[in-house]
Amino acid sequence: MIIIIKPNTKKELVSSFVAELEKTPGLQAHLVDGLHTTIIGLVGDTSKIDIDNLRTNDIVEEVKRVQEPYKNANRKFHPDDTVVDIGKGIKIGGGHFQVISGPCSVECEEQICEIARRVKSAGSTMLRGGAFKPRTSPYAFQGLKAEGIELLLEANKATGLPIVTEIMDAAHLPLFENVDVIQVGARNMQNFELLKELGHTRKPILLKRGLANTIEELLMSAEYIMAGGNENVILCERGIRTFETTTRNTFDVSAIPVLKKLSHLPVVADPSHAGGINWLVEPLALAAVAAGADGLMIEVHNNPAKALSDGKQSLTPDEFDDVMVKIKNILAAMGRSIG
Ligand code: PEP
Ligand code: MN
Repeated sequence: MIIIIKPNTKKELVSSFVAELEKTPGLQAHLVDGLHTTIIGLVGDTSKIDIDNLRTNDIVEEVKRVQEPYKNANRKFHPDDTVVDIGKGIKIGGGHFQVISGPCSVECEEQICEIARRVKSAGSTMLRGGAFKPRTSPYAFQGLKAEGIELLLEANKATGLPIVTEIMDAAHLPLFENVDVIQVGARNMQNFELLKELGHTRKPILLKRGLANTIEELLMSAEYIMAGGNENVILCERGIRTFETTTRNTFDVSAIPVLKKLSHLPVVADPSHAGGINWLVEPLALAAVAAGADGLMIEVHNNPAKALSDGKQSLTPDEFDDVMVKIKNILAAMGRSIG
């Protein structure tokens, strides 16, 4: 971090400011006293420094970060890829690629069990399904809640697929005890109290990028979970809101290699919510694989026209079969495979 001191500041004020800065353990301040400008180079772990607070100091002209404000999620401090162990023999990251698929919402036992069987036979390695649904309208289907989680556990019993489902309220955590991966949806990416609670668990967390959040904000949200001691974080690019209205969101494919460069955490892509249209899922999924994603999340429904949410972007099981063949081909061309 570089702190530029206002011109003509008395030397005693600068010295006491430096002494104050160095009170933080692990931080060293290096003073460069030029003819017209005095700057302080602050080295060490600056992630806990409040930059806005520094800026309000009377003797400070400007403060510039030269290091990212996240430490736990930063590849600089953890050069090797993190491999998140989902349990049930499934790992993601560090060369392990997984496909998470299933309906937007769990609707009934027949629906979730039928879809689970079909996606498993296509090669999907995890099952998704929303039980608590964050819907734009309070009048839209809100999910089966606790019963939805029970039905996912039934589908897990029937197929062995680990389950991924979204949490919206930390008070619901006891219901998620047997859930394999807890999803934090785009709308809750900056629900910091929820993130902190999840940091106290050791469950794998699939953290989706917010609708209008930067890559750095996504990494800072991962940092919230990791700062609590839970390092099992999987990042998810699911499209961001732009001026474009043809697609539901704009798929930020560059976020995949950027996140992998900045962080050691696994990165999954969700082409279903990114494009919002059934026929767009395949090209976006293939682009994500080619860009180096560690996994995909794809919505599949046995009757999209009758789906209680996101039918428009859901693949039928037959369509999913075809897309999976292409995903496997791209992976093979890259010398990779599912698992
Ligand atoms: C979902 O995965 O069902 C979902 C609601 O996604 P997002 O949070 O990305 O909108
Ligand atoms: Mn959905």
